[in-house]
Amino acid sequence: MHNKTLSELSTALQNKEFSSEELTRYFLGRIKQHDQSLNSFITVTEDLALAQAQAADQQIAAGESGALTGIPMAQKDIFCTNGVKTSCGSKMLDNFIAPYDATVVKKTNSAGMVMLGKTNLDEFAMGSTNETSFYGAVKNPWDLNRVPGGSSGGSAAAVAARLTPVATGTDTGGSIRQPASLCGITGIKPTYGTVSRFGMIAFASSLDQGGPMTRTAEDAGIMLNVMAGFDEKDSTSYEKENEDYTRSLNDSLDGLKIGLPKEYFSSDLNPDIASVIDAAVKEYEKLGATIKEISLPNTGLSIPAYYVIAPAECSSNLSRMDGVRFGYRCEDPKNLDDLYSRSRGEAFGEEVKRRIMIGAYALSAGYYDAYYLKAQQIRRLISEDFKTAFSDVDVIMGPTSPSTAFKLGELSDDNDPTSMYLEDIYTTSVNLAGLPGMSIPAGQVNGMPVGLQLIGNYFQEAKLLNIAHQFQQATDWHQQTPAGFKEEH
Ligand code: GLN
Repeated sequence: MHNKTLSELSTALQNKEFSSEELTRYFLGRIKQHDQSLNSFITVTEDLALAQAQAADQQIAAGESGALTGIPMAQKDIFCTNGVKTSCGSKMLDNFIAPYDATVVKKTNSAGMVMLGKTNLDEFAMGSTNETSFYGAVKNPWDLNRVPGGSSGGSAAAVAARLTPVATGTDTGGSIRQPASLCGITGIKPTYGTVSRFGMIAFASSLDQGGPMTRTAEDAGIMLNVMAGFDEKDSTSYEKENEDYTRSLNDSLDGLKIGLPKEYFSSDLNPDIASVIDAAVKEYEKLGATIKEISLPNTGLSIPAYYVIAPAECSSNLSRMDGVRFGYRCEDPKNLDDLYSRSRGEAFGEEVKRRIMIGAYALSAGYYDAYYLKAQQIRRLISEDFKTAFSDVDVIMGPTSPSTAFKLGELSDDNDPTSMYLEDIYTTSVNLAGLPGMSIPAGQVNGMPVGLQLIGNYFQEAKLLNIAHQFQQATDWHQQTPAGFKEEH
């Protein structure tokens, strides 16, 4: 049951091979069986899931169901869910029961999907390992001594281990693509403005974008059909016609022009990862694509620019967490200043504090021009690099991440955050430019998955999904299941 794609599950539900309640109980059972070792869920919403499943079964019986009615899913615990704890991986929001649904949650609910629970993440989505979560690290299902990537590591691990057919993620600098890569699943970060940010707890508002984490590109397209769309509650939501993201999955790739940025394939790239990416590109050549070397000359500036802009925006966004209105409040505050500083000091973790401090510094009167303004100028240069590249090629390809999943503690224990920041080298520039990016499983190194990144021009999600789907028709990397999670329970 757990290997079926969304459309297979949908057909099985329509044909009454099993009910949504049976399917939901099956996945809840897998979570019970496996999640003690993975820690991919913060909250399992069993009662809600069963109630939603029963409602879905009634809809199916009445012939009123849609493509996703009755199919279980998981929400990253950054999306507000009415009446359900929404922690964002932080002690600050450990007691926060959201009073409303995020637009994404509203949409999956009205599509009739069943929410199994809320998945673990780095605190406020800041991290690349999932180790900054207040609820403890998530383990990679391919090797429990390794990280699943971050920040959407709970979603990636849960999908890879088949604890849920699909999950949502968010990506500010790589948090859908990098954990997808490290866990061997498919993830797409759409063009900025495609998926509503309403009710998605803000990290860096000009970079954050929600998207699906799935096993296949087809599933990602089906999910994006539900998640995307203009929302008047999000002032940066892009107003355009709804589209069917699955419409061109089967188009031929004959004549597709692929750009390989020379900066992504420098001598620094791990040779094992490079050979996986080379093999994937060769597969595309067999499918009719042509390859061109391109240059994204400002790639090296993306990490410094991102790690000024993202902290600057987070220092502003997180100021609302002050111990007054919601979230954690310290015991017996002496006065207002004490209330603010102890509530924030006691409830935020180290990485979040580090970023708030960097951001507040970069935005302060004396340093604004030197850091924040400069970073914004670099951001423009990075966008221009992509613009030039896309006048020549249809899609850009390269590795998603410079390494496979690292050992728990490997990057976090040495107290040198820059080694972790460097993991984002291939992903952050896509957010800075606001472009769509995707990661698909493309091979393995020493038994650990490697992701191929596909970067498209603005609003080319359907094209990216087509390019990914064609690869998945020709290869079976996306079908690999980690040992220990293969059996039906
Ligand atoms: N790893 C990056 C960071 O730590 C990206 C996180 C994200 O996309 N939410 O900021």
